[in-house]
Amino acid sequence: MAGKPDPKKPDPKDAKKGAEGQEQVDVEQVLFQGPLFGREANLKANAKLVQAALVPVKQMISDALARRSHTIIMEPREGRLSVRYVIDGIPYPAAAVPGQKGIAMVQMTKLLAGLDPNDRKSIQTGGIKAEFEKIPYHLMIESVPAGGGAEKLRIKVENKKVVRQKPSEVGFPDHLKNKIRNFTSERSGVVLVCGPPDSGVTTLTVITLHCVDPYLYQVYNLADLQGRELINVTDFKPEPGHDMEITFDRILRREADVLFLNPLKSPQDAQTIFQYADRLSFIMEIPANTPFEALQKVIEWVGIDETLKGLRAIVTQKLIRKLCDDCKQAFRPNPILLKKLGLPPETTVLYRAPAPPPPDDPKAMTIEELCKDCAGVPYHGRVAAFEMFEMTDQMKEVLASGVSQEAVRKQMAAEGQTTLQKDAIRLVAEGKTSLEEIQRVFNPNPAKKKPTSAQPRPPGAK
Ligand SMILES: [Zn+2]
Repeated sequence: MAGKPDPKKPDPKDAKKGAEGQEQVDVEQVLFQGPLFGREANLKANAKLVQAALVPVKQMISDALARRSHTIIMEPREGRLSVRYVIDGIPYPAAAVPGQKGIAMVQMTKLLAGLDPNDRKSIQTGGIKAEFEKIPYHLMIESVPAGGGAEKLRIKVENKKVVRQKPSEVGFPDHLKNKIRNFTSERSGVVLVCGPPDSGVTTLTVITLHCVDPYLYQVYNLADLQGRELINVTDFKPEPGHDMEITFDRILRREADVLFLNPLKSPQDAQTIFQYADRLSFIMEIPANTPFEALQKVIEWVGIDETLKGLRAIVTQKLIRKLCDDCKQAFRPNPILLKKLGLPPETTVLYRAPAPPPPDDPKAMTIEELCKDCAGVPYHGRVAAFEMFEMTDQMKEVLASGVSQEAVRKQMAAEGQTTLQKDAIRLVAEGKTSLEEIQRVFNPNPAKKKPTSAQPRPPGAK
């Protein structure tokens, strides 16, 4: 045990104690390094509040970070402050803090972000710079009035160290990577990346760019990267007063192949980019939830002819919880299930979450006691399923005779293009996630959710 180098997680029971603010525990404490956005936190003027609430806030944040929470929600509920940690997209109750102390914790958090703790009537946003276990974090705070002088706080955790930006590091499949390489190899065409908010679109856009072979092609960046760094890409700052056309002409004279741009947001920019798409390759984000939405937007902005001529592909992803490697259970799928999932019949093993302990046996160990790694969640981290709409010759024919989502989906399936659902099944086959998780993600409406034969069965079940 002593030699195991993995970052120690607090014992769940101790952590719970911490969240409730009772005596502590061997959890390392977060270091607050001041407000973000040039604000100031006047702790001296609020000494009473600091004395009452700084320690519990510190413990709450430390506990949340130790559990890899990416969002912390603090909201009034039945006279208490309910604290929930969102881990891998799922909210878990963490603490219910009694009245006055709960209010003080909300005010303290706001104070640390340099917000006005006494203003409970307006929406305020700010942030705290922090460090925990040597990792720098930005805690983005939003306070929203919740009626009766109470407030709801949402803390979004941004890990400033994790920069996974190579295709292999996020499990971007090779066959998609090779396609992006093809699309960008002829100094022409537009590749777009889209997805709903909080789905990692910006990271996916960088991953898509890093599919381009930097030793064969000249890649220029014109985007505002907000602190990110690109590998083997030349930064290009447009001269003041130069519009997009002049800038593209200047870059063309440098024999550029691929350009990385800011998110595509206006019809004017789209028209200019598609005008140049016969001389340059472009990769950029477009604000749209799905590839079809993105396609519709492009058609609206530049017309169907330019779209068919210039657009090469639209990429998106969906984050899916990864099964805990320490407690996932193998099972032998039956042939009917495999056929239904489209998996090869020789697949011998799939994985699922361990069954919960029987509720009527008081001596049974809880899953939390069984697995120290995931504290019984039993998922740990997330993996992405990918989708890539490709503008093939057949797809062009389909679109030329009318733009319908159904027709596009049908054509994608007919050509074997990678869709989110299909790629999610790949993750199941690779043992990274479970069928239950896929069902949860793609069929989130519980009313619709009913046991089907896609549900895994115990080994040997008919
Ligand atoms: Zn586990």
